[in-house]
Amino acid sequence: MFKLPDLPYDFNALEPSIDARTMEIHHGKHHNAYVTNLNNALDAAGGNLGDKDIITLCSDLSVVPEAQRPAVRNNGGGHYNHSLFWEVMCSGGSADISRDLATAIDAFGGMDTLREKFATAAATRFGSGWAWVSVQGGKLLVSSTPNQDNPLMDGSGTPILGLDVWEHAYYLHYQNRRPDYIKAWWDIVNWAEVSKRFAATK
Ligand code: MN
Repeated sequence: MFKLPDLPYDFNALEPSIDARTMEIHHGKHHNAYVTNLNNALDAAGGNLGDKDIITLCSDLSVVPEAQRPAVRNNGGGHYNHSLFWEVMCSGGSADISRDLATAIDAFGGMDTLREKFATAAATRFGSGWAWVSVQGGKLLVSSTPNQDNPLMDGSGTPILGLDVWEHAYYLHYQNRRPDYIKAWWDIVNWAEVSKRFAATK
C-alpha cells in the first residue's frame, strides 16, 4: 500500500512561482488519485507487488501482469514523479549546491547550459509530461518524458530534478504560458535536496 506523502511545506510556500490553489489541487487531488489508482491496480494484480518500493517498481515494470501494467506505469510513475517534485522545491529556493554536484554541472557545460537545455526540454515536451536532470554513471543528462513516464522506466538514469509540465501544474495561474512557469520555477528549486539526491546515486 502506497500513501500520499505530506507536502514538506504549506500550500502557499512556493508563491509567487506556484500559487497555493494549484498546489492544493495538485497534491490533494492529482497526486492523491495516482496513489489510489496505483494501490487499486496492485490489488488487482495480486501477489506482493504492493510491498515493493516505488523506485523498484518503476525500474522494472515487466514484473507487473500485462493487464495492470499500463495502470501501474501511469499511476506508479505519477506517484514517484510527484513525490520527487515536491521535495526538489522549497520556499524561496535553495542555492546550496554541493561541491560534487557543482563539479558534475561544470562537466555538463555549466549551470547556464544545464538550465537552457532543461528549459528547452520542458518547453518542447508536446502535451503532458516531465523534464528531468538525471544521473547515469556519475554524469548528468537532461531529458523529457511523456505522461507520467520517468527515466527509471527505460534505465536512462536516476532522476535528481524534475519539472511537471502537465497543464494541471500551471494552468490556473499561467494558462498557456508554459515558458513563464518554467522561468519562475527556477526561483524555488531546492538545490540542497538535488545535491542530496546526486550524492545518493553514488
Ligand atoms: Mn502533476
